[in-house]
Parts: sequence; C-alpha cells; structure tokens
Amino acid sequence: MIALKSKSELESMRQAGRIVALALDAAQAAIRPGVTTGDLDRVVDEAIRGLGASPSFKGLYGFPASACVSVNEEIVHGIPGRRVLREGDIVSVDAGALYKGLHADGAWTYPVGEVALETRRLLEVTETALMRGIAQVRPDGWLLDVTVAIQEYVEGQGMNLVRQYHGHGLGRKLHETPDVLNWVAKGSRPRNVRMKPGMTFTIEPMVIAGGWETYVKPDHWTVVAVDRAWSAHFEHSLAVTESGCEILTQR
Ligand code: MG
Repeated sequence: MIALKSKSELESMRQAGRIVALALDAAQAAIRPGVTTGDLDRVVDEAIRGLGASPSFKGLYGFPASACVSVNEEIVHGIPGRRVLREGDIVSVDAGALYKGLHADGAWTYPVGEVALETRRLLEVTETALMRGIAQVRPDGWLLDVTVAIQEYVEGQGMNLVRQYHGHGLGRKLHETPDVLNWVAKGSRPRNVRMKPGMTFTIEPMVIAGGWETYVKPDHWTVVAVDRAWSAHFEHSLAVTESGCEILTQR
C-alpha cells in the first residue's frame, strides 16, 4: 500500500524538507580541510533541532548519529566521527528531519577545496542523474521511467550505479513503499508503479567512478566500493502534484 499524503501532511513534509535543505546548507558552509565528519554531524544536528524538528536518522535501526557522512570511497551510511577532511576529498552528507510527524530526507556530495577534474565530473554526473530522474516525475507517469532515465544517463557516461541501495517512499515513516530503483538488470521486470498526486518518495542515485560491487565495513554501517573507487550521492525528497512534481528538499 502506497500512502497518499493529505494537504496538511504535505505541508508538514514541505517544512521538514526546508529544514533538511537548511541543515545541508549549514553542513556545506562548515566544510573545509581540517574539519571532521563528527563536526559536520554536530552542525546538522544543531540545525535540525534549532529549526524545531528532530533528526530522522538518530537511533533509526540503531544508527548512532544525526547525519550519514561518507568520504571518498565511502558510498553511504558513513558513521561520523574523527575522520578529518583533507583538500581534494569529497564528502557526502545525508540527513533527514521529522517535523509534525512527517519526514523529509536529502543528501548532497560536496568537494573539499579544490578537487581533481575527474572527481568534479563524478559530482556533475551524479547530480545530473538525480535531475534526469526528477524530470520523469508526473501524475500517471511510471516510476520505472525514473530508473531508466538515471541508468541510461549514468551508464552512458561510463560510470556505474550502486545496485543494492535505492530511493524509497517516505512520510510518517522514513522508509515506506515504493522502492525507487536506480538500476535494473537487463531483461528483468521489477514491479512498476503508476505515480499519483500525493505520492512522496526520494530519488537518490549513488554513482561510483569504478566497479559497482560494494561491501559493508565492520562498523556494520559504512558502505564502500570493493575497488575503493570514489562515489557520490545526491538525493531529494519529492511529491507528485496534480501538474508534475514538487522538490521538497530544494535549497
Ligand atoms: Mg533516503
């Protein structure tokens, strides 16, 4: 069952989305060489709480922080801590906010100072993949068209998508149906969903500049590329509207 949101639920999600956007802005403003991933988590936590919401991630499935902070070869679900950011790194910050009983969720990958040209390209390809996915969101559209748009674009750029992790419905829970896949196997026929006004979900491509295989570190959370190639992750929360799509986590 996919929960369609009421006007008032959408208004709360809009507020939650604004809070996520502001928290990510605050994290971005704090990013520079010498800062730790734990510092960024504190910035996000303070921003979310300071705006009257609570961090969706803290304690969810046992996650110990308010933001997932993933550096370079770390893809998603990085546990913030003592890792120090250095010039030329990239850092993905993923955060959720719960406001009046409803969640929003967003992520962005930021350069730390000047990054290599191929790293810049990884960020551009991943952000463009997110926007191409979003361009498919409309009432009566098919959710798998989001997947196809992302996959065709990223693979056409010679990069790989992470296969095991994907976008998700959200609302009263952070993770609801439907799944919003970034990748499907050729010839497979995964469940498709027709989009309807009031549906809310994330789109969140994760792109690796190397092979697609991943593993989870012994900390039970941090997902890393097997070949340790760098990766990027861009995510927005969206609502299907009568006329198209609203980005709830727009900066
Ligand atoms: Mg998400």
